[in-house]
Amino acid sequence: MIKRRRFLQASVLVPLSFSVPGRAKPRVVIVGGGFGGATAAGYIKKLAPSAEVSLVEPARAFITCPFSNLVVAGKRDINTITFDYTGLQAAGVRHIATSARSIDPKGRLIYLESNSAPLACDFLVLSPGIELVYDSIEGTGVRTPMELPHAWKAGYQTLRLRSQLEDMKQGGVFVIAAPDNPYRCPPGPYERASLVAEYFKRHNPRAKIIIVDAKDNFTKKALFQEGWNERYPGMIDWVPVSQTGTLRRVDEDKVFYTDFDEFPADVGNLIPPQRAGAIVTESGLDGGRGWCEVDPGNFESTLASNVYILGDAVNAAPMPKSAFSANNQAKVCAASIAARINGTPPLETFMMNTCYSLIGEDYGISISGVYKTANERLVAVPDSEDTSPLGADKAFRQAEAKYTHDWYRAITADTFIANKTLSHEAGA
Ligand code: FAD
Repeated sequence: MIKRRRFLQASVLVPLSFSVPGRAKPRVVIVGGGFGGATAAGYIKKLAPSAEVSLVEPARAFITCPFSNLVVAGKRDINTITFDYTGLQAAGVRHIATSARSIDPKGRLIYLESNSAPLACDFLVLSPGIELVYDSIEGTGVRTPMELPHAWKAGYQTLRLRSQLEDMKQGGVFVIAAPDNPYRCPPGPYERASLVAEYFKRHNPRAKIIIVDAKDNFTKKALFQEGWNERYPGMIDWVPVSQTGTLRRVDEDKVFYTDFDEFPADVGNLIPPQRAGAIVTESGLDGGRGWCEVDPGNFESTLASNVYILGDAVNAAPMPKSAFSANNQAKVCAASIAARINGTPPLETFMMNTCYSLIGEDYGISISGVYKTANERLVAVPDSEDTSPLGADKAFRQAEAKYTHDWYRAITADTFIANKTLSHEAGA
C-alpha cells in the first residue's frame, strides 16, 4: 500500500518525454493561473519551446486551496501556501496580470480587462476553476461571503473564516454547509471539520461542529468517522440530507434552515453549489450544463476546436475535482498541444489522482485512482481505486500525514516551478 502511494506521489514530478524540434512561433494563451493553467503553461513551454506561451491571471501570486484548511485551523501561515509566477516567467512563460473579460472561442480571441485590443492565439487553454452559486439558498446576497465565509477559494476568505473561529465564544457552534456533488474537492468539508476540531480540542474544548450535508454519503466517510470517534469523540455531528432535507435559507443571525431543522451557528461556513468559472459559462462552452464537456484524450472542448478546458471547470467524472486531477489533465493537454506544434503523433495517456486528507496534523488518509480513455469516455482503470485501510495503526496514519506534506511540496513545485521546501517544513 505504502509502496503504491510512493509511486503515485513520484508520478507528479515525472515529466512526459517528448522530442521537440524547432518550429515557427505558435501562440498559446492560457486563462487561469491555478493548478490546471499554471501546469499547462509550464509544460507547454517545456515540451514545445518554440511556442509563445502567455498566462492570463489577475493575481500576482496564487494561494492554494490545498492546505488552506491548515490555515483555517491556525496551523500554517497563509504565506506558506502562496506561490508567485517568477518560476514560470524564468522558464519563458509571459504572465499577463489581468483578467480575461470575455472570449470568442471560435475566433480564439481573448478580451482583457486591462486592454481593449483582444489577444489572438492558435491554441486557447482555459482553467478558470469554479464559480460559487448561491441562487438556490434564500437570504443570501452580496454580504453572505463576508458573514458566512465559504473559504472555497483560498485567500481573504480563508483568513476571514480563521478569524471568526478564533473569536468564537467558548462552547459555541460551528456549522459547515456542504454542497451536493459535483463540487471542488469532495473530501474538503470533512477535512476542514477535522482540523477545526483539532484546534477546538485545544482552545475551545466544549465547542461543537455540525456538518449540514446536501448528500447522504461522502468520500472516505468510514475513515473520517473512525478518525472523529478516535480523536474528537462527540464534537462533530454529521447530518445527512435524508435526515434534515435541503438547505433552503440562511438569515442574518447565522441560522441555517433546512426542510426539517434550524441550525443556529456562532460561526457559519456556507459552501454553496458550484459551476465552472464564469469565463467559460458566459461564452457558452459549458453547453448550458454548468460544467464543460471535453475529449478526455486531450481536453479539447467538444464545442470549439483548438480550445482546451481543464480542471474543476470540466466534467471529468470519475476523476474528482482536485488539484492533483487538474495538474494531471494539464500535462495530458500540454502533451497534445505540443504534439500538434511539433508535428509528432499524440501519446496514449493515462491519468491519476490521490486525494489526501488530514484528520489531524499527524493523521492522514487517502483515496487514489488511475484513469484512462475508453470509447471516448474517461474511465477508472479496473482495480486501481483504493482508500487507506480502516483500523490502521498510528504509524500508518502518521506515514500518510507525511505523504500528504510530501505530495503538497511536489505538486506545488511541479505546478509553479517553485521551491518552498524550507518555509513549508517550518509551518506557521
Ligand atoms: P484553480 O486552481 O482555482 O485556478 C483557477 C484560476 O483561474 C484562479 O487563479 C483564478 O484567478 C483564475 N481565473 C478565473 N477566471 C479568470 C479570468 N476570467 N481571467 C483570468 N483568470 C481567471 N485538491 C487536491 O488535489 N488536494 C487537496 O488536498 C485539496 N485540498 C483542497 C482544500 C480546499 C479547502 C479546497 C476548497 C480545495 C482543495 N483542493 C484540493 C481542490 C483544488 O484546489 C482544485 O481542484 C484546483 O485548484 C482546481 O484547479 P483549477 O486550475 O481548475 O482551478
